[in-house]
Amino acid sequence: MTTVAVTGSASGIGRATAERLAADGHSVIGVDLHDADVVADLATPHGRDAAVADVLAACAGVLDGLVTCAGLGGVPDRAGSLVVEVNYFGTVDLLDGLRPALARSDAPAAVAIASNSTTAQPGIPMDVVDACLAGDREAARAAADTAGSIAAYPATKTAICRWVRRHATQEPWVGAGIRLNAISPGLIETALVAEQRADAMMGPLIGLFPIPVGRGGRPEEIAGLIAFLLGPEGRFFCGSNLLIDGGTEALLRPDDWPTPWDLDPSVFPRS
Ligand code: NAD
Repeated sequence: MTTVAVTGSASGIGRATAERLAADGHSVIGVDLHDADVVADLATPHGRDAAVADVLAACAGVLDGLVTCAGLGGVPDRAGSLVVEVNYFGTVDLLDGLRPALARSDAPAAVAIASNSTTAQPGIPMDVVDACLAGDREAARAAADTAGSIAAYPATKTAICRWVRRHATQEPWVGAGIRLNAISPGLIETALVAEQRADAMMGPLIGLFPIPVGRGGRPEEIAGLIAFLLGPEGRFFCGSNLLIDGGTEALLRPDDWPTPWDLDPSVFPRS
């Protein structure tokens, strides 16, 4: 049995993940605003510090897995800064804060939940991405408030993907034996999407979202991929961003990936 912390464990993908991991025999430490082992508000630095401290206490300083699912969607009346706080800093501060506990495990792994909005939603405000990755909270909050939460949402997820890819291959992570990866789900039928469907402006747009498999995803389908990535069969994954979206992105951008690596021809002549 291993011990895995799951943020956002009270609902949707996080809850399905906590249930799946528990059914597989793991000990799960759920983190959420309510109905969790660790009740914490990941929207504030203080809440994130408290969450890290409480998880460390609950796992006695040794953590085998961490899954960061807590997140908020973009909706017209939600501040972009709140989405930055929960989605981006609520992810990377937990990854940073719990990394030492992961390093004490024999086979540790972490999975951060991003989104296919990173590549399927146009017009991402890159100033939000850059400020997040620079760790400049005030600049990220300000830029996100200017952009609004609907545009800031994919920016927070893009920043998560880049953070994961930048850190996964480095000494503190893979060097300590910790496999760090991201998952980018498409539309999954959860409370987050229900909130957007209920919005007068966003609801009709959600209904138009193209999903070639013909339905939205189920939280259990993401939980299955998370369980795989955390487990022994996922040990060759490091710094990956796994898209699982029913074909949306392949439909919208069939030829954009793989992106060829175009090296400077003055350094690497083509012939
Ligand atoms: P959800 O609303 O069902 O669950 C999100 C959970 O995060 C809730 O339990 C909520 O209480 C928790 N949370 C929100 N703010 C918090 C805070 N300040 N502190 C602590 N916990 C907080 O949504 P979901 O769809 O299961 O989303 C899970 C993750 O998956 C999110 O990061 C979301 O961005 C991502 N995602 C969802 C979809 C989708 O279509 N549902 C698609 C791509 C990515």
